[in-house]
Amino acid sequence: MQTGSALIIAIDGPSGSGKSSAAKGVAQRLGLAYLDTGAMYRAAAWTVLQQGIALTDPDAVAEAVRRADIRLSTDPDAFTISVDGTEVTRAIREPRISEQVSLVSTVPAVRETLIAQQREIIAGAAQGIVVEGRDITTVVAPDAPVRVLLQADPAARLARRGADLAGAVNSAELTDQVLRRDRDDATVAAFEEPAPGVTLIDSTQLTLEQVISRICALAEVH
Ligand code: C5P
Repeated sequence: MQTGSALIIAIDGPSGSGKSSAAKGVAQRLGLAYLDTGAMYRAAAWTVLQQGIALTDPDAVAEAVRRADIRLSTDPDAFTISVDGTEVTRAIREPRISEQVSLVSTVPAVRETLIAQQREIIAGAAQGIVVEGRDITTVVAPDAPVRVLLQADPAARLARRGADLAGAVNSAELTDQVLRRDRDDATVAAFEEPAPGVTLIDSTQLTLEQVISRICALAEVH
Protein backbone atom coordinates (compact mmCIF):
# COMPACT_ATOMS: atom_id res chain seq x y z
CA MET A 1 0.00 0.00 0.00
CA GLN A 2 1.17 3.55 -0.69
CA THR A 3 2.24 5.63 2.23
CA GLY A 4 2.39 9.39 2.39
CA SER A 5 0.08 10.16 -0.51
CA ALA A 6 -3.46 9.03 -1.26
CA LEU A 7 -3.87 5.87 -3.32
CA ILE A 8 -5.37 6.37 -6.78
CA ILE A 9 -6.78 3.37 -8.64
CA ALA A 10 -7.61 4.06 -12.29
CA ILE A 11 -9.96 1.69 -14.13
CA ASP A 12 -10.90 1.99 -17.81
CA GLY A 13 -13.03 -0.25 -19.95
CA PRO A 14 -15.75 -0.40 -22.59
CA SER A 15 -19.48 -0.52 -21.98
CA GLY A 16 -20.56 -3.66 -20.14
CA SER A 17 -17.04 -4.64 -19.04
CA GLY A 18 -18.24 -4.48 -15.44
CA LYS A 19 -16.03 -1.54 -14.50
CA SER A 20 -18.65 0.40 -12.53
CA SER A 21 -19.52 -2.53 -10.27
CA ALA A 22 -15.85 -3.43 -9.91
CA ALA A 23 -14.73 0.13 -9.18
CA LYS A 24 -17.46 0.58 -6.59
CA GLY A 25 -16.65 -2.77 -5.00
CA VAL A 26 -12.93 -1.98 -4.77
CA ALA A 27 -13.69 1.42 -3.20
CA GLN A 28 -15.99 -0.21 -0.65
CA ARG A 29 -13.49 -2.93 0.22
CA LEU A 30 -10.53 -0.57 0.58
CA GLY A 31 -12.41 2.37 2.15
CA LEU A 32 -11.67 4.69 -0.78
CA ALA A 33 -13.76 7.33 -2.53
CA TYR A 34 -15.28 6.51 -5.93
CA LEU A 35 -15.48 8.68 -9.04
CA ASP A 36 -17.76 7.72 -11.94
CA THR A 37 -16.50 9.92 -14.79
CA GLY A 38 -19.05 8.42 -17.20
CA ALA A 39 -21.78 9.92 -15.01
CA MET A 40 -20.21 13.35 -15.54
CA TYR A 41 -20.35 12.95 -19.34
CA ARG A 42 -23.93 11.69 -19.02
CA ALA A 43 -24.88 14.72 -16.89
CA ALA A 44 -23.24 16.98 -19.47
CA ALA A 45 -25.33 15.32 -22.21
CA TRP A 46 -28.45 15.64 -20.05
CA THR A 47 -28.04 19.40 -19.65
CA VAL A 48 -27.27 19.94 -23.35
CA LEU A 49 -30.44 18.05 -24.33
CA GLN A 50 -32.47 19.77 -21.61
CA GLN A 51 -31.49 23.16 -23.01
CA GLY A 52 -32.39 22.12 -26.53
CA ILE A 53 -28.87 22.78 -27.79
CA ALA A 54 -28.07 21.19 -31.15
CA LEU A 55 -25.65 18.31 -30.69
CA THR A 56 -24.25 19.21 -34.09
CA ASP A 57 -22.97 22.55 -32.73
CA PRO A 58 -19.78 21.69 -30.80
CA ASP A 59 -19.13 25.28 -29.69
CA ALA A 60 -22.59 25.62 -28.14
CA VAL A 61 -22.28 22.18 -26.56
CA ALA A 62 -18.88 23.04 -25.08
CA GLU A 63 -20.14 26.36 -23.74
CA ALA A 64 -23.16 24.72 -22.07
CA VAL A 65 -20.90 22.17 -20.38
CA ARG A 66 -18.50 24.90 -19.23
CA ARG A 67 -21.42 26.74 -17.60
CA ALA A 68 -22.98 23.63 -16.02
CA ASP A 69 -22.53 23.13 -12.30
CA ILE A 70 -22.13 19.35 -12.13
CA ARG A 71 -21.89 17.95 -8.61
CA LEU A 72 -21.56 14.31 -7.72
CA SER A 73 -20.96 12.29 -4.61
CA THR A 74 -17.83 10.20 -4.30
CA ASP A 75 -19.35 7.85 -1.74
CA PRO A 76 -19.40 4.33 -3.26
CA ASP A 77 -22.42 3.48 -1.08
CA ALA A 78 -24.58 6.45 -2.05
CA PHE A 79 -24.12 7.77 -5.56
CA THR A 80 -25.95 10.95 -6.57
CA ILE A 81 -25.32 13.55 -9.26
CA SER A 82 -26.92 16.92 -9.97
CA VAL A 83 -26.68 19.62 -12.62
CA ASP A 84 -27.38 23.22 -11.60
CA GLY A 85 -29.22 21.98 -8.52
CA THR A 86 -31.43 19.40 -10.32
CA GLU A 87 -30.81 15.81 -9.30
CA VAL A 88 -30.26 13.67 -12.41
CA THR A 89 -29.05 10.43 -10.83
CA ARG A 90 -31.73 8.35 -12.57
CA ALA A 91 -32.30 10.55 -15.61
CA ILE A 92 -28.73 10.10 -16.84
CA ARG A 93 -29.28 6.32 -17.18
CA GLU A 94 -32.18 6.72 -19.60
CA PRO A 95 -31.65 5.18 -23.08
CA ARG A 96 -31.87 8.62 -24.77
CA ILE A 97 -28.76 9.68 -22.83
CA SER A 98 -26.86 6.48 -23.64
CA GLU A 99 -27.76 6.99 -27.29
CA GLN A 100 -26.49 10.57 -27.48
CA VAL A 101 -23.76 10.91 -24.85
CA SER A 102 -20.95 10.14 -27.31
CA LEU A 103 -21.90 13.19 -29.38
CA VAL A 104 -21.13 15.31 -26.32
CA SER A 105 -18.13 13.38 -24.99
CA THR A 106 -16.32 13.46 -28.33
CA VAL A 107 -16.19 17.29 -28.35
CA PRO A 108 -12.58 18.06 -27.32
CA ALA A 109 -13.51 21.20 -25.34
CA VAL A 110 -16.07 19.20 -23.34
CA ARG A 111 -13.37 16.71 -22.41
CA GLU A 112 -11.04 19.53 -21.39
CA THR A 113 -13.67 20.94 -19.02
CA LEU A 114 -14.62 17.63 -17.44
CA ILE A 115 -11.06 16.31 -17.19
CA ALA A 116 -10.05 19.44 -15.23
CA GLN A 117 -12.97 18.86 -12.85
CA GLN A 118 -12.08 15.18 -12.49
CA ARG A 119 -8.47 16.00 -11.63
CA GLU A 120 -9.68 18.44 -8.97
CA ILE A 121 -11.91 15.80 -7.39
CA ILE A 122 -9.04 13.28 -7.44
CA ALA A 123 -6.64 15.77 -5.85
CA GLY A 124 -9.18 16.47 -3.08
CA ALA A 125 -9.72 12.82 -2.15
CA ALA A 126 -7.52 12.61 0.91
CA GLN A 127 -8.47 8.98 1.68
CA GLY A 128 -7.65 7.82 -1.85
CA ILE A 129 -10.00 7.19 -4.75
CA VAL A 130 -11.05 4.67 -7.38
CA VAL A 131 -11.73 6.40 -10.69
CA GLU A 132 -13.47 4.71 -13.59
CA GLY A 133 -13.96 5.75 -17.21
CA ARG A 134 -12.44 5.46 -20.67
CA ASP A 135 -9.33 7.67 -20.42
CA ILE A 136 -8.40 7.50 -16.75
CA THR A 137 -5.33 5.27 -17.17
CA THR A 138 -4.06 7.26 -20.15
CA VAL A 139 -5.10 10.91 -19.73
CA VAL A 140 -6.84 11.80 -16.45
CA ALA A 141 -4.50 9.98 -14.06
CA PRO A 142 -1.68 8.33 -16.05
CA ASP A 143 0.55 8.43 -12.94
CA ALA A 144 -1.89 6.47 -10.77
CA PRO A 145 0.02 3.63 -9.06
CA VAL A 146 -2.70 1.12 -9.94
CA ARG A 147 -4.04 1.21 -13.49
CA VAL A 148 -6.36 -1.43 -14.89
CA LEU A 149 -8.06 -1.97 -18.23
CA LEU A 150 -11.11 -4.17 -17.77
CA GLN A 151 -12.13 -6.07 -20.88
CA ALA A 152 -14.76 -8.68 -21.72
CA ASP A 153 -15.94 -10.42 -24.88
CA PRO A 154 -18.62 -8.47 -26.79
CA ALA A 155 -21.19 -11.22 -26.11
CA ALA A 156 -20.57 -10.99 -22.36
CA ARG A 157 -20.76 -7.20 -22.46
CA LEU A 158 -24.06 -7.26 -24.36
CA ALA A 159 -25.47 -9.79 -21.89
CA ARG A 160 -24.42 -7.73 -18.88
CA ARG A 161 -25.74 -4.46 -20.23
CA GLY A 162 -28.95 -6.24 -21.25
CA ALA A 163 -29.39 -7.53 -17.70
CA ASP A 164 -28.74 -4.01 -16.31
CA LEU A 165 -31.42 -2.56 -18.55
CA ALA A 166 -33.85 -5.40 -17.75
CA GLY A 167 -35.89 -5.32 -20.96
CA ALA A 168 -36.04 -1.53 -21.24
CA VAL A 169 -34.48 -1.67 -24.72
CA ASN A 170 -34.79 -4.06 -27.68
CA SER A 171 -31.82 -5.93 -29.11
CA ALA A 172 -31.02 -3.32 -31.80
CA GLU A 173 -31.01 -0.58 -29.13
CA LEU A 174 -28.82 -2.70 -26.89
CA THR A 175 -26.30 -3.27 -29.67
CA ASP A 176 -26.31 0.47 -30.34
CA GLN A 177 -25.73 1.28 -26.67
CA VAL A 178 -22.81 -1.11 -26.35
CA LEU A 179 -21.02 -1.71 -29.65
CA ARG A 180 -21.79 1.49 -31.59
CA ARG A 181 -21.12 3.61 -28.49
CA ASP A 182 -17.75 1.91 -27.92
CA ARG A 183 -16.82 2.51 -31.55
CA ASP A 184 -17.64 6.22 -31.27
CA ASP A 185 -16.00 6.59 -27.84
CA ALA A 186 -12.85 4.86 -29.09
CA THR A 187 -12.28 7.75 -31.50
CA VAL A 188 -11.26 9.99 -28.57
CA ALA A 189 -10.08 7.60 -25.84
CA ALA A 190 -7.79 4.57 -26.02
CA PHE A 191 -9.53 1.86 -23.97
CA GLU A 192 -9.35 -1.07 -26.35
CA GLU A 193 -5.73 -2.02 -25.64
CA PRO A 194 -3.87 -1.49 -22.36
CA ALA A 195 -1.36 1.37 -22.46
CA PRO A 196 2.19 0.52 -21.26
CA GLY A 197 2.12 -0.25 -17.52
CA VAL A 198 -1.65 -0.83 -17.46
CA THR A 199 -2.82 -4.26 -16.22
CA LEU A 200 -5.33 -5.99 -18.48
CA ILE A 201 -8.05 -7.96 -16.70
CA ASP A 202 -10.45 -9.94 -18.88
CA SER A 203 -13.65 -10.33 -16.89
CA THR A 204 -15.44 -12.61 -19.39
CA GLN A 205 -14.97 -15.71 -17.22
CA LEU A 206 -14.65 -13.99 -13.84
CA THR A 207 -17.24 -13.21 -11.19
CA LEU A 208 -17.51 -9.66 -9.89
CA GLU A 209 -15.90 -10.77 -6.62
CA GLN A 210 -12.94 -12.23 -8.52
CA VAL A 211 -12.44 -8.98 -10.46
CA ILE A 212 -12.60 -6.94 -7.25
CA SER A 213 -10.09 -9.27 -5.56
CA ARG A 214 -7.65 -9.02 -8.47
CA ILE A 215 -7.72 -5.23 -8.41
CA CYS A 216 -7.37 -5.15 -4.61
CA ALA A 217 -4.37 -7.50 -4.92
CA LEU A 218 -2.72 -5.03 -7.32
CA ALA A 219 -3.34 -2.25 -4.77
CA GLU A 220 -1.74 -4.34 -2.01
CA VAL A 221 1.66 -4.34 -3.70
CA HIS A 222 1.72 -0.55 -3.99
O1 C5P B 1 -19.26 4.66 -18.30
P1 C5P B 1 -20.53 5.12 -18.97
O2 C5P B 1 -21.08 4.12 -19.93
O3 C5P B 1 -21.55 5.62 -18.02
O4 C5P B 1 -20.06 6.39 -19.83
C1 C5P B 1 -20.97 7.14 -20.56
C2 C5P B 1 -20.25 7.82 -21.71
O5 C5P B 1 -19.39 8.83 -21.22
C3 C5P B 1 -19.36 6.94 -22.58
O6 C5P B 1 -20.11 6.27 -23.59
C4 C5P B 1 -18.40 7.96 -23.17
O7 C5P B 1 -18.98 8.61 -24.27
C5 C5P B 1 -18.25 8.96 -22.06
N1 C5P B 1 -17.04 8.81 -21.24
C6 C5P B 1 -15.87 9.34 -21.71
N2 C5P B 1 -14.75 9.33 -20.94
C7 C5P B 1 -14.78 8.79 -19.73
C8 C5P B 1 -15.97 8.22 -19.22
C9 C5P B 1 -17.08 8.21 -20.04
O8 C5P B 1 -15.84 9.85 -22.84
N3 C5P B 1 -13.69 8.83 -18.95
